[in-house]
This record gives sequence, C-alpha cells and structure tokens, in this order.
Amino acid sequence: MKIAMLGAGAMGCLFGGLLSESGQDVTLLDVNDAHLDAIRAQGLRLETDGGDRRVHGLTVLRPEHYRDVPDLLILFTKSLHTEVALRSVAALLGAAPADAPLRVLTLQNGLGNLEAASRHVDPARLLVGMTTWPADLAGLGHVRSHGAGKVRLLPASGEADAQARRIAGALDAAGLQCEVDPNVWAAIWEKVAFNAALNSLCAVTGCAVGQLDHVSDGPALARAVVAEVIAVAHAVGVDADESACQSSVAYAIAHHRAHQPSMLQDVLAKRPTEIEAINGEVVMRARQAGVPVPNTAMLLGLVRLIQARQLDS
Ligand code: NAD
Repeated sequence: MKIAMLGAGAMGCLFGGLLSESGQDVTLLDVNDAHLDAIRAQGLRLETDGGDRRVHGLTVLRPEHYRDVPDLLILFTKSLHTEVALRSVAALLGAAPADAPLRVLTLQNGLGNLEAASRHVDPARLLVGMTTWPADLAGLGHVRSHGAGKVRLLPASGEADAQARRIAGALDAAGLQCEVDPNVWAAIWEKVAFNAALNSLCAVTGCAVGQLDHVSDGPALARAVVAEVIAVAHAVGVDADESACQSSVAYAIAHHRAHQPSMLQDVLAKRPTEIEAINGEVVMRARQAGVPVPNTAMLLGLVRLIQARQLDS
C-alpha cells in the first residue's frame, strides 16, 4: 500500500517508520527542512521497545513537492496546522479518479479534525480515529517511543467497509494494534477528556503529571474536568465511559510521574498549543448542548492567556 504521512514529527515518523519496516511504501511529508534533511542523510532513527535502529527507504518530501496519489494519507500535524497542511495537497487529492482507493485518516488528538479535513477532502474518503501510542521527537530525524498503544478507526460515514479493514490490517501488521471500531467516537471523547484534564492542568501549573498530586486539588480538578467532558459527550450522543477515563487519569498521575504532556512542552517552548482542539472544542459543544463546564472553560481561558502573553513578549 502506498502511504503518505502528512506531518512527519513524532507520530508521523513512528507510524511511517513502522509501516515502512512492515513492507509498505511510505512517504513522509513535512515542512521542517532540517528534520527532513537528517532523515534523507542518515535514515530515520527509530527508538522503540523493538530496538534502536535506522529505517531507510522512506521517501521524504515537502508537501508541495508531492505528486503521487497515495492509497492512504495519515494526517499527523498538530491540529492547528491541519488547514494549511491539507491545503498544500488538496489539489492533488481532489484530482484523484473517483475509483482510486485513496483514503485520508486523522489520528490527531482533540475534536474538529474531521470537520477540518472535510473542507479539503471528499467526506466519502475520510476516516477518523484515535491512538494511544506515545512518541517524542528526540532530535532531528530521531523519534523515541516506549510502551504500548493501540489504534481505533472508522470511516467518517460510520459504516465499516473493505477499505477501512484493509487499512486497519496494514496498521496492525506494522505492530500498531489497530482495529476498526464502530464505537470509535467513545474512544475519541475519552482521550479528549484525559487530555483536557491533564494537558491543560500541567500547561497552566508547569507540573509534570505526577506533581499534580502534591496537593489534593490537583487530582480533584482533573476528576472534575473529566466528569464535565464526559457529560458533554453524553449530551451529544456519544456513549463515553467516565469511570474508565477517571481510572486512566488516576493511573497516569500515579505512574507517569515525570511525564510532561505535549501541551506543557509547547508552553515551555513558547509554541502554540492544541488547546483549541481539546478544551476549546469541548467548551463550544458544551455551550451548544447547554452543559455547564466551568473547570474546562477556566483552563481554556488560562492557557489562552499564557499563549497570548508569550506572543506579546
Ligand atoms: P509533532 O509536533 O511532533 O509533529 C507534527 C509535525 O507536523 C511537525 O514535524 C511539523 O513540522 C509538521 N507540520 C506542521 N505544519 C505542517 C504542514 N503545513 N505540512 C506538513 N507538515 C507540517 O506532533 P506529534 O506529537 O507527532 O502529534 C501529531 C498529532 O498526533 C497531534 O494531534 C497530537 O496531539 C497527536 N498525538 C500525539 C501523540 C504523542 O505521543 N506525540 C500521541 C497521540 C496523538
């Protein structure tokens, strides 16, 4: 299968590297030239529980230089870059013959990714999903991922089809533990609840995840945000599981003590965060559904203030 990763940072490289190792024809598309040059020169350095090695044979391009129509394009930019990234390949994707197998899959965190993608891609070609695989960019051309994860996906139509099963099969064969999941929206909202609680709390306080339990307010605030987000999920008809999500948050606080969520890393590096796709989308949907979400909205406002101050300085 011909696969393109649109956004080849931590996750795009992890998935692209593993898919290439499993025999797929993979192209990495990114705008970070120094990172692309490092991969061109020395291969992708992939550090996982399977070993520390270099993956060669990847095609590495800026999106505007890509001329192929892949069978699968996986969207792995940060949510705030989706629009620009898709615009750079939209003409190519739009010109695909009607019978081309092309599918576009978003596995980004947060909500609103499918809506953003459907502005540029025929909705019949779209798949939505989530992943719990972790990855960090350890350096230019170097990705580190330890521990296990899974991938859940479904066509945007909500109906599993042969192409979705083929894609899930390819990801699974690469070791990514992938399934077509009719209940994918529950998994997406549970991850949003987890991120809305831990990412924004850590971004605002500067705490690593484990430091949130230095005072009881930390876990209590995280629990309150999870309860709010799951209430919104229920209000919009998604059967997300609050107790599973509360347990994941408690587990992370107890066991992933030194972990700095990406939103905290972004704040420390003075980069814009994914707050709008996480707390922002939840608060918007909560207002439409008439569900009170005071803690989620407070954290949204605080992260927006931090970002605005950084732009100002
Ligand atoms: P990242 O910042 O490491 O990678 C994003 C890449 O997108 C960067 O290399 C950047 O240069 C590239 N990019 C930016 N604008 C672009 C454009 N116009 N065209 C092409 N590429 C562009 O981020 P990540 O950690 O890989 O996360 C990607 C997505 O996956 C996010 O939505 C994130 O929340 C989600 N996610 C991350 C993890 C994780 O552990 N890192 C886990 C699950 C989900």
